[in-house]
Amino acid sequence: MSPPAPLATTEEMLAFDREHIWHPYSSVINPPPVFPVARANGTQIELEDGRTLIDAMASWWSVIHGYNHPRINQALHDQIDELAHVMFGGFTHRPATQLAAQLIEITPDPLNRVFFADSGSVSVEVAIKMAIQFWASRNQPAKQKLLTVRGGYHGDTFGAMAVCDPVNGMHGLFTSVLPQHIFADRPTIPFGASWSSDAIASIERNLREHCAELAAVIIEPIVQGAGGMWFYHPEYLRQIRTLCDAFGVLLVFDEIATGFGRTGKLFACEHAGVAPDIMCLGKALTGGYMSLAATLTSTDVATSISEGEPGVFMHGPTFMANPLACAAAIASIEVLLDSPWQNNIARIEAFLQKNLAPCAQLPAVDQIRVLGAIGVVELKSAVDMHRIPQAFVDRGVWVRPFGRLVYVMPPYTITDQALSHVTDAIIDVLTDPPLL
Ligand SMILES: *Cc1c(COP(=O)(O)O)cnc(C)c1O
Repeated sequence: MSPPAPLATTEEMLAFDREHIWHPYSSVINPPPVFPVARANGTQIELEDGRTLIDAMASWWSVIHGYNHPRINQALHDQIDELAHVMFGGFTHRPATQLAAQLIEITPDPLNRVFFADSGSVSVEVAIKMAIQFWASRNQPAKQKLLTVRGGYHGDTFGAMAVCDPVNGMHGLFTSVLPQHIFADRPTIPFGASWSSDAIASIERNLREHCAELAAVIIEPIVQGAGGMWFYHPEYLRQIRTLCDAFGVLLVFDEIATGFGRTGKLFACEHAGVAPDIMCLGKALTGGYMSLAATLTSTDVATSISEGEPGVFMHGPTFMANPLACAAAIASIEVLLDSPWQNNIARIEAFLQKNLAPCAQLPAVDQIRVLGAIGVVELKSAVDMHRIPQAFVDRGVWVRPFGRLVYVMPPYTITDQALSHVTDAIIDVLTDPPLL
């Protein structure tokens, strides 16, 4: 073996990265630029060359309190000196039990059984398995399919991919090896618009037709995230809850993106005042510090699963309930609940509404949408991912669009002043025709 290449300079490190490392959804032949991060603090990301970027992405929904938070740092320092990891088969520990107690306390009522998973996608796999095992235990083994809506995103693993939007879900290549589920029309009535009772027709028809083979409906409540950044009417969720009960189908809410305050409620399903039978959490669970997710369900579902064959729930990842990740999550939830997060979200929402509004006049722009601390500028055509992130970096902000969507979901602690840099940069970049 040859010794590792010298990586002393930033250029050498970047060259090595281009040669050897995959980034999310990237090509090794023509990789888009990546920027070398040295450190991050609050809402600022510092590059190796000393430039700083205002973070408008919260590292994909997760860093809700900003980077390098003293209380979460301290919790991790304290935990690492006690117990960094131990297998969860045959053991338990304070970080897991305390976090589970917190999650049960803050999530809707029937959810009081917690399964800790490693990532959002895995928590979706776990939710799907729970639903299928539930019906097998209830002597209805034919109920193995899922119903979902178009435009959804639930993760990149096989079970999760199978319920992502079949067209723009980024996984078309795998269609023939994926389990075939059932797709209803996407929710078309926007959040805040007036309800129309025929909007639920596609979901209702599919439930009526397929309920004998349906284990569960899975849906992202209120906000369809990576599948299109679309905000829909809460009445969908109320109607889906009623229909699921009527047709004997479980209801899974994927709150991986929306959980922990992002939409102005602690969980997005609170906009509709309904609870699921199974809920997936991830992303902001640890304040963006560690990979951790959780699947919560009711005692009813959990005991049914355990009453059937083989008498246990069939999942158990190696790093289940990792104590460091749990400690970060406990601290992050405490920081959230001790903060005036509702005020922060309302402030960010009002700011984005006012300061993204001028974008609507730009020729490149199709539509502006804002809900909670999420701002979306939908364009008429897709951006060039080799040039647009660079254009934002040149303007001192971190915005990473995908497809036709330029969107922001900053840390809740971002100041109005920092936010105005972000919205000014968006307007500036979208006004620059050679960039689009
Ligand atoms: C990000 C996301 C996932 C997948 O989570 P990973 O941690 O990336 O596996 C699933 N569902 C939703 C709604 C998400 O936003």
